[in-house]
Amino acid sequence: MNTIMEREFWFIVGAQHLYGEEALQEVKAHAQKIADTLNESDVLPYPVKLQELAVTADKITSLMKEVNYRDEVAGVITWMHTFSPAKMWIRGTKLLQKPLLHLATQFNESIPWDTIDMDFMNLNQSAHGDREYGFINARLNKQNKVVVGYWERPEVKQEIADWMDVAVAYNESFQIKVARFGDNMRNVAVTDGDKIEAQIQFGWTVDYFGIGDLVQYVNAVTEEEIDALFETYETLYDFDYGNYGKKDWEASVRVQASYEIAIKRFLDDGGYTAFTSNFEDLYGMKQLPGLAVQRLMAQGYGFAGEGDWKTAALDRLLKVMSHNTSTGFMEDYTYELAQGKEAILQSHMLEVDPTLAVNKPKIIVSPLGIGDREDPARLVFDGKAGDGVVVSMADFGTHFKLLINEVSAFGPTEEAPNLPVARVLWKVLPNFHDGVKAWIENGGGHHTVVSLNLSTDQIIAYAKLVDLDYVVIK
Ligand code: MN
Repeated sequence: MNTIMEREFWFIVGAQHLYGEEALQEVKAHAQKIADTLNESDVLPYPVKLQELAVTADKITSLMKEVNYRDEVAGVITWMHTFSPAKMWIRGTKLLQKPLLHLATQFNESIPWDTIDMDFMNLNQSAHGDREYGFINARLNKQNKVVVGYWERPEVKQEIADWMDVAVAYNESFQIKVARFGDNMRNVAVTDGDKIEAQIQFGWTVDYFGIGDLVQYVNAVTEEEIDALFETYETLYDFDYGNYGKKDWEASVRVQASYEIAIKRFLDDGGYTAFTSNFEDLYGMKQLPGLAVQRLMAQGYGFAGEGDWKTAALDRLLKVMSHNTSTGFMEDYTYELAQGKEAILQSHMLEVDPTLAVNKPKIIVSPLGIGDREDPARLVFDGKAGDGVVVSMADFGTHFKLLINEVSAFGPTEEAPNLPVARVLWKVLPNFHDGVKAWIENGGGHHTVVSLNLSTDQIIAYAKLVDLDYVVIK
């Protein structure tokens, strides 16, 4: 994944002085054991770092302030080993500006009936501490995650891991910068919206550039650079010349290679992590960027077509959350309406994300009916099968709304010899009729981001962190 910094999570364990210094030493040893076990498992994508015990309001406040200003700390995981009075947590919790996970667990898995006494029960009273602490988070409307269960269980570790990915994406949301080459496609409604509000609410910076700004970068790319990238293409993809002569075909692909180099350089120079193009705004370009865009999506840049900056930013966000696995920009295209086979064919005019490819992509060159430019090269492949989510963001004027539909993608059984683009097929939940109807009634767009790696719960967790309205269709 490009341009993601190293991140860590702080593990802050609640206790108090009431039970004596010896008890606190034990709390600390237990906390270290849990932190070590979590780190040694292969499940967590980021490390947890145990901090000093949270035994006073001043200590909690200073820890949370430090979390806020340290960029590498993506969030806080708390655990109430004992009863940690929650008035101590109010100031620090209010100040905390990063995601919070309350791990409702206990050091001992079972109650030791043969030996349990009052000292043991005072030391191991997470059930008591969880409720005291949970109350204040609920009262402060903290939108924190609560993970319940014994800390050594795989499903508990997995739930923490999934939340960590959301927390890192939340942090990264404030770093998302979208470069728009051209404005929105003329007359299109659902792809437009309030860029200032998006920056206030989600942290997204959305900047406009004339296509000429990119053309300058394209013209500066050298033949040697194109040669080197062309060789990379040869190692990764099948070459399908179709009806083109080898020379014409290669010339077309080399144009896309120059676009890939130029766009990447442009984005990296400006710190941009996502971008849009518009086939109506290509003055000075020989082709609509196709293969170039697909290659950049595979490297982790967010993208959407036709100036759709909301979907481009959302794509970048979900690529961070999913470690750029099976996640990308998509467009609802064509229905399959045969009884019992109902599905939706997903694609785009060129720019389908190769992280969704099930087979080795082939490069083809084919005419493009719109945009009035030379025949562009693009990657063609079939999409993976798997369950996932498709997400779309719409601007309703007074608020943004996120639509989340659970989908089940499947491999195509028919050839499509005349289709010159990559294709993905899926069924929507709960069924075609109700799923499609709910999507349309809620005003969901045709541009989406699909992920066969993320869950509805993860998308909701992000939405809650940024106070974003959402609708789930499943
Ligand atoms: Mn489109």
